[in-house]
Amino acid sequence: MTGKTLLDDCFLHDKDRLRHHEALTILEERVSRLANQETVRLEDALERLLAETITAPRNIPLADNSAVDGYAFRHADFDDAGGFFPLQQRIAAGHTSDLELAPWAAARIFTGAVMPPGADTVAMQEDCETHQQDGKDFVIIPQGLKKGANCRRAGEDVAEGATILGEGQRLRPQDLAAIASTGQAEISVFRKLKVALVSTGDELRRPGDLITVGDVYDSNHFLLRGLCATLPLEITDLGIIRDDAVLVERTLKETAQTFDVVLTTGGASRGEEDHMLTALDRLGNRHMWQLAIKPGRPMMFGQIGACTFLGLPGNPVAAMVCFLNYVRPVLNVLAGGDFLQPQSFLIPAAFDVPKKKPDRREFYRGFLQTDDEGRTLANKFMRDGSGLITGLREADGLIEIPEEVTEIRRGDLVRFLPFSGFGIR
Ligand code: AMP
Ligand code: MG
Repeated sequence: MTGKTLLDDCFLHDKDRLRHHEALTILEERVSRLANQETVRLEDALERLLAETITAPRNIPLADNSAVDGYAFRHADFDDAGGFFPLQQRIAAGHTSDLELAPWAAARIFTGAVMPPGADTVAMQEDCETHQQDGKDFVIIPQGLKKGANCRRAGEDVAEGATILGEGQRLRPQDLAAIASTGQAEISVFRKLKVALVSTGDELRRPGDLITVGDVYDSNHFLLRGLCATLPLEITDLGIIRDDAVLVERTLKETAQTFDVVLTTGGASRGEEDHMLTALDRLGNRHMWQLAIKPGRPMMFGQIGACTFLGLPGNPVAAMVCFLNYVRPVLNVLAGGDFLQPQSFLIPAAFDVPKKKPDRREFYRGFLQTDDEGRTLANKFMRDGSGLITGLREADGLIEIPEEVTEIRRGDLVRFLPFSGFGIR
């Protein structure tokens, strides 16, 4: 017996640390929707999370209409040779006709115009010939059109009463188009989550400041600010806190009273100059810390009063990997959405890893390549350092290697998680 609890021991073996899936389970179980609702105009709703269900109040489209510029007619009037029909009426988009189409007659019609009563089929103007006889206009419609051709039916996009979008859905341009097509000008969305960003470390300086040997620019702030921009959050920059136990604790305590979430980087380990852990333990509850993953072992998750605390490691690669895997789904749930899981594809590896440690999950910086036969392969950034922003920059995504894998050979299928699936454009 060492007298230490497992969770606090920095010399834990990976097999005793929390596994990736266990961490996801803890996070998913502990967080729930926090955000209130607000009403916004549709033009301001892009990328917000919907706080209502959108149903179609009427058929979309409202009425049967023509899909092309052409001639509307009754399919039953067709004979073996096609049709030779007098033109009875003319209907342009935005106009309707109450005039019932006479038997063996056609209507000149334009894209989007409502079908005249009685007509069921439209011939494209390019396929037809017009003809004048005795001062009257006729159209010759060739054979071969199926009943209903080139006619859009009322409700064929969405039928009256059908659900279009559900609560919690992130609104993409095409979703806004769908809401607009119902005629709704304002919608209810979840209020943006108030997130405070904190960087910690005596060595940190902000771009624009002078540095000397030993200093490092606070690149994580910009990394996290950018990652946060992929979610509906209201970000407040609390700047850099020095590695001072009292200062760290005071900042966290004050921040927790005003913000929904405090997201920190650095100071997450057990070193003498790492104060996040102690501060969190003194002020609130810790639900998670040491993970069996590489990079990013120390990833804190806890609660200070009503405020969710998320503490990322200081190394930029670890910070990004942990943000994407753990912080992103948590923030999205708190903000009113789902526990987001990344899109992934199995792709043959263009690399070998002769020996991988078992019991831990690894995330490589991955990029896609094409081989001589045009097949897509996933390659890995070859340098390992968790401080190398270059690898993050050159990557198209992450390659996720499960715990049990101990060796990868070229051609093995590996799981590739594109950055675009994490909302990074
Ligand atoms: P820490 O997690 O505080 O032990 O930091 C681990 C490593 O990440 C150290 O080399 C730090 O200098 C570096 N680091 C910590 N915070 C940042 C930051 N905000 N931006 C860039 N590097 C950082
Ligand atoms: Mg530090």
